[in-house]
Amino acid sequence: AGTGKFIVGGNWKCNGTAASVKDLVKALNAGKIDADVDVYVAPPFVFIPRVQAELNSEKYAIAAQNCWVSEGGAFTGEVSAEMLVDANIPWVILGHSERRALCGETSEFVGEKVKYALSKGLKVALCIGETLDQRESGKTMDVCYAQLKAVNDVITAADWDNVVIAYEPVWAIGTGKVATPDQAQDVHAGIRKWCASNISPEVASKIRIQYGGSVNASNCDELATKEDIDGFLVGGASLIGDAFVTICNSAK
Ligand code: PEP
Repeated sequence: AGTGKFIVGGNWKCNGTAASVKDLVKALNAGKIDADVDVYVAPPFVFIPRVQAELNSEKYAIAAQNCWVSEGGAFTGEVSAEMLVDANIPWVILGHSERRALCGETSEFVGEKVKYALSKGLKVALCIGETLDQRESGKTMDVCYAQLKAVNDVITAADWDNVVIAYEPVWAIGTGKVATPDQAQDVHAGIRKWCASNISPEVASKIRIQYGGSVNASNCDELATKEDIDGFLVGGASLIGDAFVTICNSAK
């Protein structure tokens, strides 16, 4: 089991309006968050300044949902790691399955992104996970290990101090089909073992492994009892203030 502090992230994805973000921030600010949990929320870029101005920063850190793979410049539509640092955004989510699948991000590209973001001082939530086909053909762990290896090949053991791993089975994301606590625990334990063998035992014990995929206010408690589940990355339910607060407070 890991020794790190429970950590919950809210991935707002490509959702929201000025009005809905205002309401969500209000609901989050009204929530009581346990002292022993780290929380980040990842609004769409266009809303970040507004969320930074209004959201209680003692309870919630800000994350970006993506950043560019190298120094900014002639990359239309992209946002660079330097810009995030300059804008006081401490976290970035990288390797989300939607970007891997829909934007063609390979594991090697994600590895380069993680390396560059870390080199600029960002903290990274690294998403990994298998598709339904891969699970059904028994390749879950191979897929997760290969995605981790592509990152580990280009960063140092010390760099992992600033990485949180989010295990997000693709078949569970946005589907309402949550992994069972045992399914999630098995993969988390495998990831931690991989870290012990391929990074270091010290990193393996410290690294925090979030589960993501249809987590909600009703299923978080049981998942959180599992010893290698160190928190959650939440999509849909992070848009509902009180549900997200409940999930944040589900550490056992
Ligand atoms: C996600 O996109 O990171 C996610 C876990 O989404 P959802 O909670 O909606 O399944």
